[in-house]
Amino acid sequence: MRKLLLVLCLMQFSLDVVAQDITKVDRPKLMVGIIVDQMRYDYLTRFYHRFGEDGFKRILGEGFNFENAHYNYLPTVTAVGHASIYAGTTGSGHGIIANDWYDKYAKKMIYCVDDFSYEAVGTEEVNEQKSPKNLLATTVTDQLRLSQNMNGKTVAIGLKDRSAVLPGGHTSNGSYWFVGKNEGKFVTSSFYMDALPRWVNDFNKKRLPEKYMKNKWETLYPIKSYTESIADDNPYEGLFNGEEKPVFPHNFKKLKDKNGNYDLIKESPFGNSILVEFAKAAIEGEDLGQREYTDFLAMSFSSPDYIGHRYGPDSKEVEDTYLRLDLDIAELLDYLDSRIGKGNYTLFLTADHAVAPVPAYLKSLKIPAGYFDYAAFSTYLNELCQKYYGASDLIENFSNNQVFLNREALDKLGLDAAIVSQRLADDMINYEGVNKVVTARTLQTTNFTTGILSYIQNGYNQKLSGDIVVIPNPAMIYKRQTGTTHGSGYSYDRHVPMMFFGKGIKNGRSREYVEIIDIAPTVSNLLQISFPNSHTGKVIKEVLE
Ligand code: ZN
Ligand code: ZN
Repeated sequence: MRKLLLVLCLMQFSLDVVAQDITKVDRPKLMVGIIVDQMRYDYLTRFYHRFGEDGFKRILGEGFNFENAHYNYLPTVTAVGHASIYAGTTGSGHGIIANDWYDKYAKKMIYCVDDFSYEAVGTEEVNEQKSPKNLLATTVTDQLRLSQNMNGKTVAIGLKDRSAVLPGGHTSNGSYWFVGKNEGKFVTSSFYMDALPRWVNDFNKKRLPEKYMKNKWETLYPIKSYTESIADDNPYEGLFNGEEKPVFPHNFKKLKDKNGNYDLIKESPFGNSILVEFAKAAIEGEDLGQREYTDFLAMSFSSPDYIGHRYGPDSKEVEDTYLRLDLDIAELLDYLDSRIGKGNYTLFLTADHAVAPVPAYLKSLKIPAGYFDYAAFSTYLNELCQKYYGASDLIENFSNNQVFLNREALDKLGLDAAIVSQRLADDMINYEGVNKVVTARTLQTTNFTTGILSYIQNGYNQKLSGDIVVIPNPAMIYKRQTGTTHGSGYSYDRHVPMMFFGKGIKNGRSREYVEIIDIAPTVSNLLQISFPNSHTGKVIKEVLE
């Protein structure tokens, strides 16, 4: 009997231990989310041999790297990327379906984070009226605040407004973005506060942009050693206004008047360096990572996107941008080590989308690629409506590869939107350069599980999106003279870095296919908090200790 009691006691004891282990919450002091705008996965491998030991290599060496991480929707653009990373779902769930989209209720184009019920704060630029009102879901940053009874702070920073507003969610203590033009300052909106905090004003007073504008943008190392890119002078690259050739050095002092003055900062690697300085100011100013609650710093390096659009992923400028960003990342890690302490913070690093190589460059290599003329396609759509229905007003809007039909015009003619959509779609597939066409009806009645139709479906919002979706061929981008873009559901836009580092993270690498919407649930699990309310991603177990 005594023995039995002892055994029972021991069992109870071990159950307690297990229960304690399961419920014990040992969160990092600070969670840092890093998004590099337009970073392709292959930049990590392509430039690896040139990286220093303390930046990307350190994250790869000590943290966990996913080599096969992808977006699972389209359009792969900035606003949707930032929202999806933090909400753990796609546009069908969180409602951010593009950067700008046609609002079929208001009958006009709207911008993802515009909200004219708030005022710009800290700037003379009156149109900086922003809020996350179009983001329907909660973010991992919201959930962290909620789970800690609104203790713990969220600060979100980026050069682009949408890259700060969306990651900060609805409960950010402050989301700040950069206004170039003649100001060169970080600003916010009255959604968050009525005046900039002192630390932001102090930072703005330091006039760092001025310091950088005195520089020329020259290569960090001798340009001859840049072997991962094509010739500096090539026909595929865009120019700054006032430049005759797309070559180093880019002389900012000379260029600033013709290129929006401090906007030049955004379009150079110095935008990354300023963001790291601003991150440090935020950590100090808000005393992040110093309390019993976990704080969240969401930061987005926007400059690589501007540079990538102008010069393309095979340019010397992009190679230089990533060698410099590597140093900025090293600086940030070093700062986090000393201020927050090694082992007291956790970070992830990913991108909001990747980018297509310049189509003209691919064509020169005999790879199928080209330019889709959207204006010509719109004309063709109207001709099609004329041909079938004798009406020229059936297409209300064509944007983001989606056709919005004019419901009133259809009603007048007694036409059914689903039938008209299918009839147009059946013809549109024959248009040169069109790869796929799918109607809203099909998207709502079929469950696609793989491939580009599933990516359309994930990005498609039943309430907000259009009646027909058109997909051009691979490597076909909208007509432009030079440079490139992103937005498609092809691998070159979907494959991005996804790395975790710090407290609670295993050391390793994985070749498993994972999706970017898995980041928020994985971080939620790491932090032992509720998931973002519309999440569809999964917890990736192999990364967590
Ligand atoms: Zn972007
Ligand atoms: Zn972009």
